[in-house]
Amino acid sequence: MQHTAYIALGSNMGDRELHLLRAVAEIGSIPGSRITGLSGFYDTEPVGPVAQERFLNATLRLETELAPAALLKELQRIETQLFRRKRTVTWGPRPMDLDILFFDDLTMAEEALTIPHPLLHERRFVLAPLAELAPDLVHPLLGRRIDDLLATLDAPGEVTRI
Ligand code: AMP
Repeated sequence: MQHTAYIALGSNMGDRELHLLRAVAEIGSIPGSRITGLSGFYDTEPVGPVAQERFLNATLRLETELAPAALLKELQRIETQLFRRKRTVTWGPRPMDLDILFFDDLTMAEEALTIPHPLLHERRFVLAPLAELAPDLVHPLLGRRIDDLLATLDAPGEVTRI
């Protein structure tokens, strides 16, 4: 069965643009999956308690036969194998962060996997690229469109499409 997932990508270490391009290529070769949409790349202010470099963020749409847990496993394999990411400082700098934003209309809240991503509606660096791909997508818990969530967002963190 085919599913539609939205994935957020972010990098703030090394060659951020190259990292995003490599991650997109790698996600596109996940078995049973193909990318059907990719946003522009956004240079964004870091949000959160840790002082760090600016991020480059993007979102993509993936048609996939994988179940959510299997998709997360593939994304974590890419984070650790391709980018040798070490999970040390929570919220800290990272060559690549991959998050599942939506998975069809699914809602689930487990520690290992919460869908929709619990912070997506508060983050301009997620909503701005997502609004390019899917402005009319409705958040299954909030019942609001992505373009509406972005337009009414009251949060710091400026973003610039490069
Ligand atoms: P981070 O260090 O920000 O990449 O957080 C990764 C952790 O968040 C992992 O332990 C995941 O199992 C968990 N997690 C929960 N929900 C999600 C989601 N929607 N997408 C990606 N990781 C998630």
